[in-house]
Amino acid sequence: MHIRTDAPDLDLNNLGFAYVNTDWRYRAHWKGGAWDAGTMTEDNTLRIAEGATSLHYGQQCFEGLKAYRCKDGSINLFRPDENAKRMARSCERLLMPEVSEAQFIDACKQVVKANERFLPPYGSGGSLYLRPFVIGVGDNIGIRTAPEFIFSVFCVPVGPYFKGGLKPQNFVTTPYDRAAPQGTGAAKVGGNYAASLMPGMEAKGKHFADAIYLDPATHTKIEEVGAANLFVISKDGKRFVTPRSPSILASITKLSLLWLAQHRLGLEAIEGDVPIASLADWAEAGACGTAAVITPIGGIQHGEHFHIFHSETDIGPVTRKLYDELVGIQYGDREAPAGWVVKV
Ligand SMILES: *Cc1c(COP(=O)(O)O)cnc(C)c1O
Repeated sequence: MHIRTDAPDLDLNNLGFAYVNTDWRYRAHWKGGAWDAGTMTEDNTLRIAEGATSLHYGQQCFEGLKAYRCKDGSINLFRPDENAKRMARSCERLLMPEVSEAQFIDACKQVVKANERFLPPYGSGGSLYLRPFVIGVGDNIGIRTAPEFIFSVFCVPVGPYFKGGLKPQNFVTTPYDRAAPQGTGAAKVGGNYAASLMPGMEAKGKHFADAIYLDPATHTKIEEVGAANLFVISKDGKRFVTPRSPSILASITKLSLLWLAQHRLGLEAIEGDVPIASLADWAEAGACGTAAVITPIGGIQHGEHFHIFHSETDIGPVTRKLYDELVGIQYGDREAPAGWVVKV
């Protein structure tokens, strides 16, 4: 395996969120009851059976996490054990074999090391986005779990997800649901994303950053954005609230912000209801996720009403502190709580 060290033909200081065919990816195969040891390959295509369950019945799940270049030159992964655990839960929900935490983290490390020349430099605001996924493959036609599976991890160098970085973005509620109350919303599976493509496109067509989903049972409470969880800050700046719902995807960024809000900012941090009718009760709002990091919410359009939290340039003081704390930990500039950072 030849690891290239020459500079890639792209500006690592000025990236968006677009696919880049990097040098190496990890592949493991499951057949007859066990995962093999996995290998690295330069081939960015997969050759799979036409009857693969992942193609017809949505039997697949994925993860998203980032590697960060630190000031001292070392490389951080942020809470990869949490991604491994969540992928195991997604696999369990879709009758797919779980990948062990050790194999998951090892695969991520191998992919970062083999593609290190694509890692954006410290200070650029960029990172190397890792995309692990599990898909059902092998000959099949009936509706059942696949006879074989592939676990793969590839990576793409990325900048901020929403163009403009830490700049407030506007969102719009959608009448559609991304997941059913007892459906697969809590699993990171492609089917939820298939359901969110049209609402997301409609929102962008109206010049919003993305759609906000309400709780699928009553459509009265905020759930999340297509690929990020939400949080709000009370008017007195003392309470951090993020929606609790079985159809929300449990964001690791959200989990981390709950902890940081409580232990580093001294806020009361809870998961609870955020009624769409209560927007006027909150001073700040944000979207959070690995890709979105923390994106301040400028305003939310709901029906005819547009509620404004932040102006174009104004970022709430609590949102700003949370952002600095989170990003500082990810890039190794602030002390990480035990176990949050894994060196590659
Ligand atoms: C991945 C994802 C998130 C963000 O989760 P993180 O672990 O913070 O990256 C939020 N919502 C949905 C629907 C997701 O798929």
